[in-house]
Amino acid sequence: MTRRRRAVVTGGAGFLGSHLCERLLAEGYAVVCLDNLSTGQEDNVSHLPQRGPFEFVRADATTGIRIAGAVDAVLHFASPAAPADYGRLPIETLKVGSIGTLNALELAREHRARFVLASTSEVYGDPLVNPQPESYWGHVNQVGPRGVYDEAKRFAEALTVAYRQRHGVDTAVLRLFNTFGPRMRPDDGRAVPAFVQQALLGEPLTVAGDGRQTRSMCYVDDLVEGVFRLLRSDHPGPMNLGNPHETRIVDLARRIIELTGSRSTVTLVPRPVDDPRVRCPDITLARTVLRWEPTVELSQGLHRTIAWFRLHLNRRAPR
Ligand code: UDP
Repeated sequence: MTRRRRAVVTGGAGFLGSHLCERLLAEGYAVVCLDNLSTGQEDNVSHLPQRGPFEFVRADATTGIRIAGAVDAVLHFASPAAPADYGRLPIETLKVGSIGTLNALELAREHRARFVLASTSEVYGDPLVNPQPESYWGHVNQVGPRGVYDEAKRFAEALTVAYRQRHGVDTAVLRLFNTFGPRMRPDDGRAVPAFVQQALLGEPLTVAGDGRQTRSMCYVDDLVEGVFRLLRSDHPGPMNLGNPHETRIVDLARRIIELTGSRSTVTLVPRPVDDPRVRCPDITLARTVLRWEPTVELSQGLHRTIAWFRLHLNRRAPR
C-alpha cells in the first residue's frame, strides 16, 4: 500500500489557507495546518478533523518550523494579506515574508518536499502594464503603506528561486490576484467583505475615490483548483492565478447592492495612498501549463459569498 501524502500549510487557518486545507483533505492528503492566528481564525478549520487526518498547530512560521514525520508538500500561505491587516502588522508582515519563508523553505529542503509560495499580484505594485504578465517587473513604492507586503513577497520570491538554484528544492512561485468567498473576515477592510456587510446592514457602500479603479475578482474554489494543479505539476512559476475578468470597484459595489436586494446607496470615500489603479492577471501561462481557468461567474461567486455572510452576521449579532 502506498503511504498517504502529507502537506504542511502555513497560514492554514486563514481565508485561503483553510479552503486549501479542506481541498487537500478531500484529495486524500494528511494535513498539518500551522497558524499563529494573528489574522487567521481557528473557527475556519474547526470542521476539518472530521474530513480526514488533520492537525492544527498554533505556531508562528517566523520562529522555526519543526514537523515530525514525512512531509511531501509545504504550502507557504502565512501572511497578513488585507491592506488594513498589513498596515496594522507591518513588521510581522515583513518577518513572515522573509524569515517565515526561509523557515518554510528549510522545512521543504529537509523533507525533500515540493514547496509552493503564495506570492501576490502586489509584486506588480500600481502596474503600468495591463493585464500583467509574469514577465512584468512591477511598479512598487517600497516606502509607501503597501511596501511592507509588496517587498516581503518580492523578497520571498527571490529566496524561493535561490533555494531552487542553490539547494535543488522543488519550488513553485504563484502570484495570487484578488480572491473572494466565504470565510473572509468581515472586518478585514477589503472591498468584498466590506460591501457585502454594508449592503446587508443597509449602510452606504464605501467606494474609494471615484470607484473607477479596477480589480479582477476570483472565486476561492477556482483559485484553490489552480493552486492544487500547480502543486501537482513540476512547474517553478512564477505563475499568475486569478480571474482575468476586470471589474470597476463602483460596479462591484452596485452588483452587490443588486444581489443582496439592499436599499443601500454608494458613498465616495478617500482613496488609500498607492491604491493600484488597475489590476488584471494575464493567465496565459496557467491556461497553457495547468489547463486552468476560472469557471465561477462573478455573480455566482458573490451569491455564495453573500449567503455565507448572511449566516455569519446573524450569528454574530442576533438582532
Ligand atoms: N475599496 C473600496 N472600499 C472599501 C474597501 C476597498 O472602494 O471599503 C477599494 C480599494 O480602494 C481598492 C479596491 O477596492 O481600490 C480593492 O481593495 P481591497 O482592499 O479589497 O484589495 P486590494 O486589491 O487593494 O489589495
